[in-house]
Amino acid sequence: MSTTILGARIHGVTMDEALNRIAAFIEAGSPHQVITLNAEILYRATKEPELMALINRADLVTPDGAGIVWAAGKLGRPVPERVTGIDLLQAVAQKAPEAGWKIFLYGGEPGIAEQAAVNLQKKHPGLMIAGTAHGFIPPEEQEELREQIRIAQPHILLVALGAPRQEFWIRDNLSSLGVPVAIGVGGSFDVIAGKARRAPLWVQKAQLEWLYRLIKEPWRYKRMLALPRFMALVLRESRR
Ligand code: UDP
Repeated sequence: MSTTILGARIHGVTMDEALNRIAAFIEAGSPHQVITLNAEILYRATKEPELMALINRADLVTPDGAGIVWAAGKLGRPVPERVTGIDLLQAVAQKAPEAGWKIFLYGGEPGIAEQAAVNLQKKHPGLMIAGTAHGFIPPEEQEELREQIRIAQPHILLVALGAPRQEFWIRDNLSSLGVPVAIGVGGSFDVIAGKARRAPLWVQKAQLEWLYRLIKEPWRYKRMLALPRFMALVLRESRR
């Protein structure tokens, strides 16, 4: 089931349904791009047609964040729950050992993807890590990275370069990698590696994770100005 918010097609899936779709993508074998879309990036896409086109060509776009869930409800097309990048990553890592999925971690500062891999394997025994790479590989070494991924043959490539850089990277590279599923996961490796901390559960449940991030990372305020603008656009669309 999909719904359109400000011109972007979003799939109103639960976490379980997202995992089922990913399983089907792996079964099919051809390349599939998964985006966990938040309000900030959607707002940006309303101004950048190339980003909007990319979102609408993706195979699965999940509602990432309170802003999108609110917008869907406001427009009378509610989505069941948030499916954020980090939660999807954890759910994939949980299911991967029994499903036989190998994952590859690309992104973050040097050492972060390796540490995230170690921590994930501790939490999910039997998890197969096909490889890791840091997220600051210059253009002249990108072919080497693609070769590393091709040889590693993961089922799922997790790309943590921040949004929307990771979405463009996946769009431009996925077809040459022989990997069935690539998911952009933002700053997730930093959290899993223990470098950054996520908001306490009660803050997440109160839908205030954005406020927590604003307090912890005040330099984000400029990006976060997108939120009230996004809300204004949604309210305008809901009145139409
Ligand atoms: N990053 C990277 N390569 C780059 C720029 C950023 O690997 O060229 C990483 C950075 O180390 C951080 C993540 O991308 O781990 C961005 O995190 P952020 O929380 O800003 O992303 P968001 O969750 O907002 O998409």
